[in-house]
Amino acid sequence: MEKNVLLQVEGLVKHFPLRKGTFRRSKAAVRAVDGIDLFIREGETLGLVGESGCGKTTAGRSILRLLEPTAGRILFRSRRMAEAMSAGAEGVDVAKATPRQMHALRRDMQIIFQDPYSSLNPRMTVGAIVGEPLLVHNLARGSAREDRVLEVLTAVGLKAEHMKRYPHEFSGGQRQRIGIARALVLEPQLVVCDEPVSALDVSIQAQVLNLLEDLQREFGLTYLFVAHNLSVVKHISGRVAVMYLGRIVELASTERLFADPRHPYTEALVSAVPVPEPDITVERIILEGDVPSPVNPPPGCHFHPRCRYAIETCRTQAPTYRDLGEEHFVACHRSEELRLQPARSK
Ligand code: SF4
Repeated sequence: MEKNVLLQVEGLVKHFPLRKGTFRRSKAAVRAVDGIDLFIREGETLGLVGESGCGKTTAGRSILRLLEPTAGRILFRSRRMAEAMSAGAEGVDVAKATPRQMHALRRDMQIIFQDPYSSLNPRMTVGAIVGEPLLVHNLARGSAREDRVLEVLTAVGLKAEHMKRYPHEFSGGQRQRIGIARALVLEPQLVVCDEPVSALDVSIQAQVLNLLEDLQREFGLTYLFVAHNLSVVKHISGRVAVMYLGRIVELASTERLFADPRHPYTEALVSAVPVPEPDITVERIILEGDVPSPVNPPPGCHFHPRCRYAIETCRTQAPTYRDLGEEHFVACHRSEELRLQPARSK
């Protein structure tokens, strides 16, 4: 694990068994995450994109162990664990942490949920919602807790008068600010942003994205930014990982991914990103068919039934995930020979 790497995920798998019959024996499994590798450096934002059902949200939640991983290592350089338990150079393996260690790790790893309407308890005031993690971790009570809540509410653009109000009194954008404040109140190192702007109006999305960038600079945060929309990820991420049917098919710097996509699935996603110049015509690549079932994925390359470049090998052999150089990772048999369409720009 490189020195400046905060999180390194190796072979992460999350299967959901499908149980049938009288004895509820497991007959098959939904292979939501099927062996992913990634790392995130301190202070950077890694975007994780893909269509609905590709496993990106499950991957984010498994990394935080909100879902129990089936296999794999999640090495995390936790500041507080390193101090308290002299964790080795590799950091703590979150997948193997005991309940007590997990409780401590929660301070350093937080999540912002997609839906600000359902992720806030309607019976609690904003002050109680944002201050609750301080109580759970026994960090501050009384006026010290109120001071910390006010500090973090101010950081996300809310005011002292908002503390006594309830979530239903706020707009969608303000509720997401409350969710962000709750995630930041413990001063975490890593924040998984799980589609944080998908439920918001387009006019509000930019405000929340700008806020997340400002907070990252101010508090030195590291983000795993999960989204289905590549144009949202483009604006906030330094690197982007593209997921398809439980696996990462391409990972590169944002600039490189848009200028030189090497996987046909990325090419299709990139072609769907709107271009602001009206005189530029973009060939929009429409993928045929739906994402196959993760219970019974296609053999060989999972993408082959929808790929316009598929050859016989693609139907029988799974491509290996490899580094093409300069940390541009791809899983496609033909990535070296294909000349794929980049994003259009003037
Ligand atoms: Fe398409 Fe074959 Fe590459 Fe898969 S391995 S993306 S099917 S060309």
